[in-house]
Amino acid sequence: MKKIGFVGLGIMGKPMARNLLKAGYSLIVYDIRPEPVKELGDAGAETVSSSMEAAEKSEIIITMLPDSPDVEDAVLGKDGILEGIKSGSIFIDMSSISPMVSKRIAMKIEKKGARMLDAPVSGGEPGAVAGTLAIMVGGPEDVFKECEPILKVMGKSVVRVGEIGAGNFTKLANQIIVAINIEAFSEALVLGMKAGVDPENLYNAIRGGLAGSNALDAKVPVILNGNFKPGFRIRLHLKDLNNALDTAKDLNVPLPVTALVQQMLKALIVDGKGDSDHSAICNFIEKLSGVDVRKKK
Ligand code: NAD
Repeated sequence: MKKIGFVGLGIMGKPMARNLLKAGYSLIVYDIRPEPVKELGDAGAETVSSSMEAAEKSEIIITMLPDSPDVEDAVLGKDGILEGIKSGSIFIDMSSISPMVSKRIAMKIEKKGARMLDAPVSGGEPGAVAGTLAIMVGGPEDVFKECEPILKVMGKSVVRVGEIGAGNFTKLANQIIVAINIEAFSEALVLGMKAGVDPENLYNAIRGGLAGSNALDAKVPVILNGNFKPGFRIRLHLKDLNNALDTAKDLNVPLPVTALVQQMLKALIVDGKGDSDHSAICNFIEKLSGVDVRKKK
């Protein structure tokens, strides 16, 4: 079995790395925070003190980092993956970042005789823990085939969508749908609440119909319980909508409702909710009407 390096052990990366360990892969882990590195070390992974070292010691190196500048830092920065990666190795970036940055990094990786996939995911922390993520992959077909068994340890659905960058273009589409979906059902829940309908009954009545969705099932219980611990942070969803709008600008595509929800995310961050779960989009709509959509005590 191939040796795998894993960089970025946050909400998503830590359980994904754990699943690779459980599947029997020998894993070399690194994060700028020592706590998750120690945890994975205790679980049987080899720990190292830079991304470069993780790349030197592995044949496949995976990153799961917040944003484009973090991936650029971990790959192109001092003691980064580019300094350590061996010719013939494969770099898989599973973070959700700008597709243009993915393409730029791939060119540098290829110059070292290595290959790259961009493979962002959907499914949140529960999907990462259960190994049931949806993984959208960009990159050469042969590299995809070589990595598919590893990706299948972390995901239930693993689909190659095109060449490098296509994974992240697809993830942007995913993030537009999720953000607008949460905003839409937040408006509906606030209206129902103001009209005196029990929000739990409203949810149960609509979830089996056309308005039902995975986002509705994952996020309405969070809203009803009023516990907005992440999950998926508001500031990371803003990063995704910023990337979507930048891409849309380059391609001359108007995305009016995405732009509106992007402004709501910005307002929530100003309101101190950047590290709340993205289901807190509902808090923005609640504030407009002065009601909270919570379960009856
Ligand atoms: P997180 O902030 O919980 O974890 C990121 C980890 O990267 C942290 O442990 C941090 O210390 C580490 N890190 C940052 N810079 C580093 C560097 N230069 N070198 C090494 N380690 C570094 O974020 P997350 O929620 O796990 O998200 C990771 C990616 O997955 C993001 O791109 C996010 O958009 C995407 N994503 C998240 C979710 C979710 O529900 N949380 C779902 C799907 C996709």
